[in-house]
Formats: sequence, C-alpha cells, structure tokens
Amino acid sequence: MLIKKFDPWNSKLCTCPFKLSLNPYTGCEHSCVYCYASSYIPNFFNCRPKKDLIPRLVKEAKKLKGEMISISNSSDPYPSLEKKLLLTRKCLEVLSNSNCKIQIITKSTLVTRDVDILKRIKAMVAMTITTINDKISRGLEPNAPPSSERIEALKILIEENVPVAVRIDPIIPYLNEEQEELIDTLASIGVKHVTSSTYKVKKDNWQRFSLAFPLISEKLKDLYFKDGERFGRSFYLPRDFRFKLMNKIKDLVEKKGMKFGCCREGFRLSSASCDGSWLIS
Ligand code: SF4
Repeated sequence: MLIKKFDPWNSKLCTCPFKLSLNPYTGCEHSCVYCYASSYIPNFFNCRPKKDLIPRLVKEAKKLKGEMISISNSSDPYPSLEKKLLLTRKCLEVLSNSNCKIQIITKSTLVTRDVDILKRIKAMVAMTITTINDKISRGLEPNAPPSSERIEALKILIEENVPVAVRIDPIIPYLNEEQEELIDTLASIGVKHVTSSTYKVKKDNWQRFSLAFPLISEKLKDLYFKDGERFGRSFYLPRDFRFKLMNKIKDLVEKKGMKFGCCREGFRLSSASCDGSWLIS
C-alpha cells in the first residue's frame, strides 16, 4: 500500500490528529545530519521514486473519502528528481479528485512550482527551517536549500494564500536554541503556526552529527547518554531541559500572535493541532 495510516514508528509521544501518509519517493537526498528516517530505511540518502507510483495511487485513491494525507513524512516530496518526474505534482492532482486535505512537509523551494494546485485544493505546507543562519543550515542539512531560500519560498506561498506552518525542528542545544530572530521573521511575513521539537539521538544520526559538529557533540554527550531519557531506540535530553527549551520557543511564538505545536515531547504545550493541520480550511 502506498497510502498508510500516519504512525511515526509507533511513537507513544505523537499527538498528531488522525491522518494518512504518502511518500512519493523512497529515501531523501537532503542528507540532514539529524535525520530519523535514515535509521529505518536502507540506502536512505539515495532518493528513488516509488515503483508504478501513479497507477497504484489512482487505484488506492478510489477508496478515499476526503481524509487528511501528509506528503511526506519519511522523505522530502520535492527532491531534485521531482523537477523532471513531476510525481508529487501528479499525486496532488490525483488526490485533489478525492477531495482530500493535503499537508505537504518539505525543506525544498520547489514546492512553489505547485502553488497553482495548492491554492485551489484544501492544503497547507509545513516548511522545516531549523535556523535563520545559512551557514548552520548548510552544516545540518547539506543538500537542502539554505534557510534564506526557504523563507523566500514561504513568502511566495503566503502571497498566493497557501497556508503555511514552519517546523523549527530539531532544536539542538548550543547550536540553534536561540530562535528569536527566525521567529520574528516568520511572524513578519505572515506565518501562522510554528511546530518545534528537540533533537532525538539515534545511533546513526549521532555518528553524522559528531562528525559535522564535533565540539558541540562533546558538550551534548552527557546530556543525552548520562542524564537524558530513553524512548525505544531514541535518546532524549533530560525532561526538564526539554521542557525549558520548548517553553521558550512557545513563548516567543505566541508573543508574536502565532500558534505553537510541540512535537513528540510528551508535554501539553500545543496551542493548536501540533502539526499545524488546523490551517487547512
Ligand atoms: S529532509 Fe527529512 S527525510 Fe530528508 S534527510 Fe532531512 S530529515 Fe531526513
């Protein structure tokens, strides 16, 4: 099945409303050092299209009745391959015929290409921006467009009346915990919702992170592996530490009149549906 119930690897801390999930591609070329999906999917950073995607989707879409579908949760739906393959665009066309609500999750500026479809269907875009600093975003997300270009893409979407949320996710202590400038910028361009979450360490993302940011990983070691919490195969920061980080982001976001969503932390801090899907009219 291409369309599955959204279930982030059985996370007990997920507070998302019921929704379905569709990944037009397997794997993701952005190569984010903190990526969680890479520990579940082999050869992850080699992005490839799903086999027979569109005919299979057309068949499955016949059973849909206007559900919310998130595209996509374990890969970016707008990799560079999408420029010539147009698979995500075709998916949007198919799903719009089933009256589905669509949530796009991306770091790619290519999403603006599909603004003509997104503005006529029930849809929203959640753009991940982890820092306003392009140099840090290059280190964290080597093959994704820099943050400044993502902010420009958001402006285009907002001008065209496509609802947007921003995921400031993950927050990593000593690296990107100061988010005031980014949050001010988001509010000033008309973003209505921000979701945030702290970095969850997994074996493979920790290896990449330690290589990319050796000094910071030294500082974080004890926080995660000695004093932190463990949920399944993920290491979390200590609970009170995470609470303070999330509360700080929430205060900054709400002071600017935006809604806040807290993702997979186990705290009741969200002021609207955590994933920003309330933005879909
Ligand atoms: S964009 Fe998402 S799926 Fe792709 S590498 Fe980054 S974290 Fe992983």
